[in-house]
Amino acid sequence: MVTTRNRMRFYAAISVTTAHGLLYGLLPKVNVDHMVISLSVHLVVVFALSPFFTNWLFTRHIKRIQTFVEELKNGDFTKRLPVTADSLIEMDSSELNQLHQSLNWMARQIDIREQTIRAQLEDTKQREQDLQNMVIRDSMTKLFNRKYFREKVSLALSQLEHHDCPFALAILDIDFFKKINDGYGHLTGDAVILKLARLLEQHVRGEDIVARIGGEEFAVLLTHADQTSAEKILTRLQAGIRAMEIPLEDGLCLQITVSIGFVAVHATLPTNQDELFHQADMALYHVKQNGRNGLKHWSSDEAAMALNNP
Ligand code: GH3
Ligand code: MG
Ligand code: MG
Repeated sequence: MVTTRNRMRFYAAISVTTAHGLLYGLLPKVNVDHMVISLSVHLVVVFALSPFFTNWLFTRHIKRIQTFVEELKNGDFTKRLPVTADSLIEMDSSELNQLHQSLNWMARQIDIREQTIRAQLEDTKQREQDLQNMVIRDSMTKLFNRKYFREKVSLALSQLEHHDCPFALAILDIDFFKKINDGYGHLTGDAVILKLARLLEQHVRGEDIVARIGGEEFAVLLTHADQTSAEKILTRLQAGIRAMEIPLEDGLCLQITVSIGFVAVHATLPTNQDELFHQADMALYHVKQNGRNGLKHWSSDEAAMALNNP
């Protein structure tokens, strides 16, 4: 800093002297005594003012470092201090320049560590998410699994009890699926299951839950749905499944049908989860017994009939 200050004084003095000389050189009839006195006065003024100027410059640099540190404190590790030569002060070999370089190095190190930690955090989050998905989702279709579905039915039952929210539980089973496996191979069978899974997801509303509860058996929980609205949604769903085409290797397409049994649950129907599954299963069984490719709502009359007519 000392060399820099002296250099500043020297440059300032040279500049003032030159300007002074030029000024007097241009004027006619120069008085040499006046010139010497004037020059001396200017030099004294320059030397007297130079500490203030140096202080101003020094403060400017301190402020720049202060701002830089503030930005570090606020989590911005991308800013850097200048390390090239300043137009007013040569900083190449000065302590200030070295300080800038050290602070920049520190900021770069923090930045690298911050990025590493952030990447590790993302990785951990992703693993957590994967683990959670493994617990609640079917590995093949990525639909929810039976366990998670049962939890959601429990929740729907408690909401029914406390808030009187009706809902419907439906079970779908692909018709003659064994024939698909036998006729086209297991891989085609898998493709059918996957395509149906995606279609089910697309056809239900955001608040509904779709799960794969068996090999080619799926369950749908329709929230805030009474018998009529559930029937509408499921009829539309069934039509969508009938229209679905699974391309085969020979260029032809395969189409499937499903049988659906469902039960609409409302507050006046005292029930529990196992009973609900049983009722939806009974309605499904009824459809299978009556030619498949149909939709059936469970009713106690049908149950009595099924019991009398196993
Ligand atoms: P139904 O109309 O009475 O339902 O006749 P179905 O042939 O569909 O009979 P069932 O439901 O008993 O057959 C289910 C078959 O699904 C038996 C099993 O080999 C097959 N399966 C179960 N899981 C998978 C799977 O992940 N992939 C494939 N390709 N087949 C599966
Ligand atoms: Mg089945
Ligand atoms: Mg089947």
